[in-house]
Amino acid sequence: MFSYRHAFHAGNHADVLKHTVLIATLEHLLEKDTALTVVDTHAGAGLYRLDGDYAGTSGEAADGVLRLLAPKQEAAPVAAAAPAQGAAKKSTKPAATPDAPLAPAIQAYLDLVRDFNPNGGARVYPGSPFITHHLLREHDKLKLFELHPTDARTLDANIAQLEAGRQIAVLREDGFGSATKFLPPPSRRALVLCDPSYEMKTDYGRVLDLIGESLKRFATGTYAVWYPIIPRPEAHDLPRRLKTMATKAGKSWLHATLTVKSSKVLTTVTGDQKRPGLPASGMFLINPPYTLNGRLQPALEQLKDLLAQDRHAAFTLDSAG
Ligand code: SAM
Repeated sequence: MFSYRHAFHAGNHADVLKHTVLIATLEHLLEKDTALTVVDTHAGAGLYRLDGDYAGTSGEAADGVLRLLAPKQEAAPVAAAAPAQGAAKKSTKPAATPDAPLAPAIQAYLDLVRDFNPNGGARVYPGSPFITHHLLREHDKLKLFELHPTDARTLDANIAQLEAGRQIAVLREDGFGSATKFLPPPSRRALVLCDPSYEMKTDYGRVLDLIGESLKRFATGTYAVWYPIIPRPEAHDLPRRLKTMATKAGKSWLHATLTVKSSKVLTTVTGDQKRPGLPASGMFLINPPYTLNGRLQPALEQLKDLLAQDRHAAFTLDSAG
């Protein structure tokens, strides 16, 4: 169960999508003075070293956040535009050129990552707990669930350095089973981020159970679910079922996906099968900020180009309500 370590994946293209959406969502929710509670059901270790052993082994950040932080002339490796889905169909021109200014949502994401690297470069990558805490105000609350013994210990130690007192709670509990105990929060404003590792097939069903139960308890909360787009029926069913759940409950939703490469398994000259690694991922939000669609559209157009690994790079952005 516990082989997944987010340190191998920190700052990859999936983190870029997830954290760009998280920041854009929080920025909107924090415009109102009333306290916000953020529940992070699968928090990870909180902070990651991009020059450390884990990230160095996988090198995933090189094709994610590090590409975006690279000098502009190096940051637009755009292959011939692919037949893209959804809004990507509108243009065959690369949205990101060396001279084009970055979309505000990408800029906000990169500015935040840079805040964790005051001496330049990107040695430190903030995970969702630190991204969230960086944006929260003193009267907001953050509830963090992490079950992996090592990551929970690291998260605890990282959070202790913030001296945030009662503002942040770290819980070594099952985020699927326990997150709803914080709903609704006293101020009746909450964002729930659900970002499991999907190591087990049952995670997909547990996400649906958690969101279903959460909506029953607190229908006006904002719910954000990250999921991998991989050749597995459960992964394709998840956004469909979340959409049905939101629609039946009369709630607005937003669905953003980012593909960076083909999902085809390659056969090498020696006949070995080479898996491509994670080719795409999605974020599904229920009760998203009404500004989110407009904020993400230009960002996804650019991310598709900036993070493309082959001509299959694409994005989709749909919403309703
Ligand atoms: N949200 C983090 C971020 O964006 O920086 C990354 C989280 S990572 C994708 C998923 C985490 O969930 C892993 O650290 C894993 O140990 C943890 N985990 C797995 N099952 C869990 C459970 N049932 N409850 C809480 N945490 C769990």
